[in-house]
Amino acid sequence: MTSFTLIYGCMFSGKTTKLIELYQHCGFEQEEIIVVKPVIDNRFVADKVNSHSGLNMPGMRIKNPEQIESYITESTKIIFIDEVQFFGSRVGTIIQNILMQDIAVVASGLDRDYLHKDFGPMPDLKRMADKNIALTARCHLCNEKGTHTFRTIKNDSQILVGHDNMYQARCEKHWDEGMKAFTN
Ligand SMILES: [Zn+2]
Repeated sequence: MTSFTLIYGCMFSGKTTKLIELYQHCGFEQEEIIVVKPVIDNRFVADKVNSHSGLNMPGMRIKNPEQIESYITESTKIIFIDEVQFFGSRVGTIIQNILMQDIAVVASGLDRDYLHKDFGPMPDLKRMADKNIALTARCHLCNEKGTHTFRTIKNDSQILVGHDNMYQARCEKHWDEGMKAFTN
């Protein structure tokens, strides 16, 4: 039985680290595994998927989710997708097609943007997933459970690639306070 596992949470919640852990323990051979991530994220080395904790796995950067299907061979058993939120609404259908070919999917993504609004395909993917793994970070200010992504600079575009130079994980209270400070 093939399955779809979705890992999600705010920034700094360890999503990619979890994805790499599942990759390392999936038990399949290298030729049975495909790893992809969107090309939009150019923070790290081009042919690898890296976590902030220093783990990495070989992976391919692709421009659109349709490209995933072009990598599938007869040996493919499982596909790992990092930063799945950037692939847009079509990725749900593509994942469904992959599952129908008896290939498992493990994806990780940011489920909400810096305004705490649903990020692209994530609500659909949560509904589709057989297993949802929700992760949390630590609030940058109080060290309590961090569930929100706070953007520390003023910029209104939903996609703004950055790391701790532009973002913090925050608890709801400190996220809310930070957002209010921007509008005042
Ligand atoms: Zn806090």
